[in-house]
Amino acid sequence: MRGRAILLLVILVTLSGCGMSSVKPMTAPGAQLGESDDERHLLSLAAEVDDDIRRAGLLYDHPPLQQYLDKVGRSLLPPAVDGQLRFLILRSPVINAMALPNGSVYVSLGLLARIENEAQLAQMLAHEASHVIFRHSLAHARGSKAGAVVAEVAEIATLGIGAVMRLPIHMAVSGYSRSQEEEADRHGLQLARAAGYDATAAVSLYDTVRNSLPAALDDRSSIYASHPTLRRRSKYLRRELARAAPAAAGTVSAGELLARTESIQREYLRLLVRAQQFATAQESAAIIEARMPSEAWIPCLLGDAQIGTAQHPEAAAFEQAHREGKKVTDELVESFRSRRTEMLQTARQSYRRCADADPARAEAQRGIGLASHLLDDPAEAAPALRSYLAAAGAAASDRRFIEHLLTVRPQ
Ligand SMILES: [Zn+2]
Repeated sequence: MRGRAILLLVILVTLSGCGMSSVKPMTAPGAQLGESDDERHLLSLAAEVDDDIRRAGLLYDHPPLQQYLDKVGRSLLPPAVDGQLRFLILRSPVINAMALPNGSVYVSLGLLARIENEAQLAQMLAHEASHVIFRHSLAHARGSKAGAVVAEVAEIATLGIGAVMRLPIHMAVSGYSRSQEEEADRHGLQLARAAGYDATAAVSLYDTVRNSLPAALDDRSSIYASHPTLRRRSKYLRRELARAAPAAAGTVSAGELLARTESIQREYLRLLVRAQQFATAQESAAIIEARMPSEAWIPCLLGDAQIGTAQHPEAAAFEQAHREGKKVTDELVESFRSRRTEMLQTARQSYRRCADADPARAEAQRGIGLASHLLDDPAEAAPALRSYLAAAGAAASDRRFIEHLLTVRPQ
């Protein structure tokens, strides 16, 4: 996948030799996608990115949420482009969205999990749709400075954690200029308002995304953080709202959005733990638990993030350094190592909380057992691991590993 993504970049750069020419929006009379050779080429590359994403298992298939996304997305589109865009969910915990020139609009699970109301979702989808409608990829490919695009992608390639997952995503839009981003923001807002959404709630998207990202990443790591900073975007759109004629109060639909995204929160936390984004997982678990206080799986996944921090000090240090925009140092890794016992105890507490909420929960017993084992506490480890095996039965895919733990002391 990485090779393919880099190939697309190189071709985008080559296209930049074509010189500037005007690009009509898809809504202009008689406008059609694929009118020119260079656009046809972009469209076929976009189709390859679609294939790569599908083949890599990055498409998240969740019919109820998909239907909701389609409903909101299609309500925003001008009639001239209806049927030419597709809204898809990326199985990625990274907070991101992207639009390909062929009309595929991807929204990450992480972003869907963090946004707060339907008006924000509308603004996000309308922003991405606007990139497609204005054919920004083509316009930028024709006018971009090759050097700038190469530098941007080279930086992304060095990110490490999740970079492979992020690479094609960044690359597909890293070419957008600041003025294109602003155009997509403003036009997106118009589309959201025209569809009846509350403009202030829509603009709060940028604050929510900014609050969901570590401060040091505001300018770098997410597509939403590219070019105009999130702070700036929230500001200029609010200024625009203050100037615009006051609209009747529009739809916010916080309740519906939260109800629709409830079922993906668990997958979101799981993906964060799997991507070794342990600190982000812990922060997100706290937010989700505030929304859904009685769900037992939340403290269990919180325990997984904490045990991950204890067992993978290098990854935890990498994550922290990345979030702070710094390089990882030996001291930082050492500081995570030195807090191992404390972190294992914290994890065990989380698993106990999970077991209190739902005593029959196999993963709570597994977590208590594993943390206790790593704390060299066989008196608590053995019964918990045994009750895990009993509760999980045939579903215990790690049965041999757990049985092995029951016979050894920790290293
Ligand atoms: Zn954009």
